[in-house]
Amino acid sequence: MELCGLELFYSPFRVIFLVLWFYLCMYLVQRFEFSPIIPEKLKMGGINVLILIFGPIVIFIFVILDSFEKVQQYGMPFLEAFKRAIGRAREVVDISYLAGARGKHAVLIVDALGRNLSEVYGDAERNKDDRETIEHTQNIIAIAIEQLASDIIIEPTGNDKYIVRYKIDGTLRDIEDVENRRCAEIINSIKAISSMDIAEHGPQEGAFVGRTPGNDISFRVTSRPIREREKILIRILNQAIRKFTLADIGMDEKYQQVVREAVSKKSGMIIVCGSSGSGKSTTIQAMLMELDFTSRNVVTIENPLEYILPGVNQIEIKASAGMTVEKTLKSVLTQSPDVICVGEIANKEIASLALGASQAGHLVFATLNSDNSATAIIRLIKFGIKPILISSAIDMIISQKLVRRLCPQCKTVAVLDEAQLEKLKDKEVNINKIMQSTGCGYCGDTGYKGKTGVFDIMIHGDDVKAKILSSNFSVSKFENTGNEQHKINLKKQAIRLALNGVTSLEEIKRMTQDLER
Ligand SMILES: [Zn+2]
Repeated sequence: MELCGLELFYSPFRVIFLVLWFYLCMYLVQRFEFSPIIPEKLKMGGINVLILIFGPIVIFIFVILDSFEKVQQYGMPFLEAFKRAIGRAREVVDISYLAGARGKHAVLIVDALGRNLSEVYGDAERNKDDRETIEHTQNIIAIAIEQLASDIIIEPTGNDKYIVRYKIDGTLRDIEDVENRRCAEIINSIKAISSMDIAEHGPQEGAFVGRTPGNDISFRVTSRPIREREKILIRILNQAIRKFTLADIGMDEKYQQVVREAVSKKSGMIIVCGSSGSGKSTTIQAMLMELDFTSRNVVTIENPLEYILPGVNQIEIKASAGMTVEKTLKSVLTQSPDVICVGEIANKEIASLALGASQAGHLVFATLNSDNSATAIIRLIKFGIKPILISSAIDMIISQKLVRRLCPQCKTVAVLDEAQLEKLKDKEVNINKIMQSTGCGYCGDTGYKGKTGVFDIMIHGDDVKAKILSSNFSVSKFENTGNEQHKINLKKQAIRLALNGVTSLEEIKRMTQDLER
């Protein structure tokens, strides 16, 4: 038995292992005070000894603890939090990792000149305070991207704190409280990366870019003074564009085909209508994505700019600079682009310019604030547009509504009641695909995460044209039949989504009741 100890020393592998382990632990003791994984208050005293002996094992325990904390704090899935914690732990070994972006969900924040936070704000390598600020700022941005937030709001509350909020699916969510001094530094780092003047506390505007492995995301930043401190608003511009194909916005195959055919034409007009907040501009973006920007010259007029589309000439209307949609549209038409996206048809002048452009051989996309295709046509007639122009210029009217998507983390097969089972009895439906949800941390206990469109597409065929042009055209009759058909079509599409587990039967019921109002 006494040979055991000797054997250990005589086995060259064990000796090498022990020596390496010793060096690794020594190295980690040196570096661990820089690690964001280990809480500040633990960075002195006895933990040094633990790391000297157990090294990576101690770090691993902190990775697990940190992941659980993030799950609780932000409600992100554990696996996601774990991956991020591993990434953060790697900073112990490789400090230059800090300002970089290597993980799948990592984001590298750069200014208009491509410089990162370490270059424009502080020295992450040498200054611990700067490093923590930079790391905190990166985290606020990275988590907002992960959560598909559209806005980040950082504002003072009370006297000694700021609050960070995200707007997700149109709802504000409180994310974290940050103490004054730290948050003032975070705000300064955001102002620096947005090419704003840190010393200036009046209202300013700026922008920066987040580079992720998938795409570049644009951020618009505004700062304004509030209660002797500052409030920062960050709009995340093309946050969701990475997924916006026609399929992603919820169109079924048949409709996708119909839309593809329409956008492949040289000229014509497609109007997207729906109430405000029904996702019209998203549908326009998905249609634009079907175009080949290299072979077609695409111009969009936007108010305000919501997504950055590389390869597209996007003009943002700045009312303060005396720009109007009408003036801009006129000047765009003189350059004769192939495809023009005119934004909302808000008045007679925009309407006649847009319809005229379609007649003149351009492909025109526009949105209209009306419930369905029939009311859209009536709205144009009320603008004073001649029925003959409407019938010849428009090819397609898409009307849409949004329904909430079930949360992917907590949805389960729905338990159907007697009445629901009875309704589905004779239909060829796989009832195991119908889902419901209970709510979880990931969806903020709502049971839903994100939204999807429900569409009704009217192709402007001969029958519609004949109706509009007929001598006994009656607005009220046209509106009534249009409304009825619209409800039937939307409901059909919505039920398809529920039968595929995308949304719930309750959500369809809510939408249907909304239609009846
Ligand atoms: Zn959930």
